[in-house]
Amino acid sequence: MAAAVLARKWVGAEVTVLNPVDRFVERVRMHQLASGQELRRVSVSGLASAAGIEFVLGSAAGIDLEHRTVQVAGTGGVLPYDVLVLAVGSSTELGRVAGAYGVSTLPQALALRDRLPRSRRVAVVGAGLTGIETATEIAESWPDVAVSILDTGEIGAAFAARGRAHLDAVFTRLGIEPRPNVRVARPVPDGLELTDRTVLPADTVVWTTGFRAPSLAGDAGLEVDERGRVLTDHYLRSVSHPEVIAVGDAAAGVCADGTELRMACATGVPAAQQAIRALADRVAGKPMRPLRFRYFNQCLSLGRRDGLIQFVDERDRPRSFVLTGRAARGYKEAIVRSALWFQHHPTLPTTF
Ligand SMILES: Cc1cc2nc3c(=O)[nH]c(=O)nc-3n(C[C@H](O)[C@H](O)[C@H](O)COP(=O)(O)OP(=O)(O)OC[C@H]3O[C@@H](n4cnc5c(N)ncnc54)[C@H](O)[C@@H]3O)c2cc1C
Repeated sequence: MAAAVLARKWVGAEVTVLNPVDRFVERVRMHQLASGQELRRVSVSGLASAAGIEFVLGSAAGIDLEHRTVQVAGTGGVLPYDVLVLAVGSSTELGRVAGAYGVSTLPQALALRDRLPRSRRVAVVGAGLTGIETATEIAESWPDVAVSILDTGEIGAAFAARGRAHLDAVFTRLGIEPRPNVRVARPVPDGLELTDRTVLPADTVVWTTGFRAPSLAGDAGLEVDERGRVLTDHYLRSVSHPEVIAVGDAAAGVCADGTELRMACATGVPAAQQAIRALADRVAGKPMRPLRFRYFNQCLSLGRRDGLIQFVDERDRPRSFVLTGRAARGYKEAIVRSALWFQHHPTLPTTF
C-alpha cells in the first residue's frame, strides 16, 4: 500500500519494491494454505508494474543508515534511498519447541501443509486470533485429525459472552479440545508436557504465539522495541532516523491519542496510507497530519463456513455486539479480500 500510494506521485517519487518472492503473500490466509486449500497466485511484479513501481526480487540483508543504502542479499547490489519504507512484517519464532510448525509465513504454512496428511493429533499452542483460526481450519479440513488448542489464559477471553459461547459451540461441533490455563513445559516424544505435569499427546505442534519483526531494523541501528519493531513518532517515522518510515507489523505505531496499533492487516493498511500522506504533506511544505486510528472489530474465520466478528470500542475492548455464523464468514471474507483490492486501488485515507 505504501509503495502503491507513493507511486501515485504524491511526492513525485521513484519507487522501488524489494521482496524475496514474486508472490503477493496474503498472510491472512496462511491457515487456509496450511490446511491444504489452494490460494490464487498474484505476482508482486504484476502489481508493481500496474502501479508504475520498479520491482526488485531479493531480500534486504542490511541497511546502511549513514549512506542510505539497502544491501540486497547474495547479489552484492545496493539500493540507494532518500526515504526508506520498512514493511518487512513479522513472524512467529518456532525455536522454542523443536520441530514445531507455524502459519505466520509462506514457508511455515507450506511446511505444515506437507505435514498434516501424516498427522493424527495436532496441538495448536496459543489461542489468539491466529491460533483459533488455525485450529478451526485444520479441524474442518481434516476431520479425522484430533485437534486441541491450548493457552496460558482463558480461551476467548477477548470476546463478549455471546462470542465466547459461539466459539465454544464451534469447538464442540468441530471436535476441538480446548485446554485453557496451561503452559508448555517442554516437548516430549509423544507430545507436549505441560506445567501441570500432564502430557498432551500430539504428533504435530503448531506454534502461533508471539509475532516478532525481523532483526533487520535493530541490526541496522534503528531504535526498536522488545519485539524488534521500529519505534516511531506519530507520523510513523523512526524516532532515531526520521528518513526511515516503518509500517505494518514492523512498526511500533502509537497514535497521538495514545492508541497503540496491534500487529494486524487492519491497522497496517490505514497506517501505511497515513504515513505516506504525512510524507506528502512534508514535501509539499504543509502541516503533517499525525496518525489516527480507531478500532471497529476483530474478525475471525472459524473454518470456511463460520466466523465471529467481535465489535470493539475505540480502545479495542469488546462490546456486547457480535456477528456469528455465515454472516460473519461473509463479512470476514470481504475484509480479507480487501487487502488485495487495496493493492489495485491505492488511495490516501479519506476518513481522517
Ligand atoms: C494465519 C494468519 C491470519 C491472520 N488474520 C488476520 C486478520 O484476519 N486480520 C488482520 O488484521 N490481521 C491478520 N493477520 C495478521 C496480518 O497478516 C499481518 O498483521 C499483516 O500481514 C502485516 O502486514 P505487513 O505488510 O506488515 O507484513 P507482511 O504481510 O508480513 O509482509 C511483509 C513482507 O516483507 C517481506 N520481507 C520480510 N523481510 C524482508 C527482507 N529482509 N527483505 C525484503 N523483503 C522482506 C516478506 O517476504 C513479506 O512479503 C493474520 C496473520 C496470520 C499469520
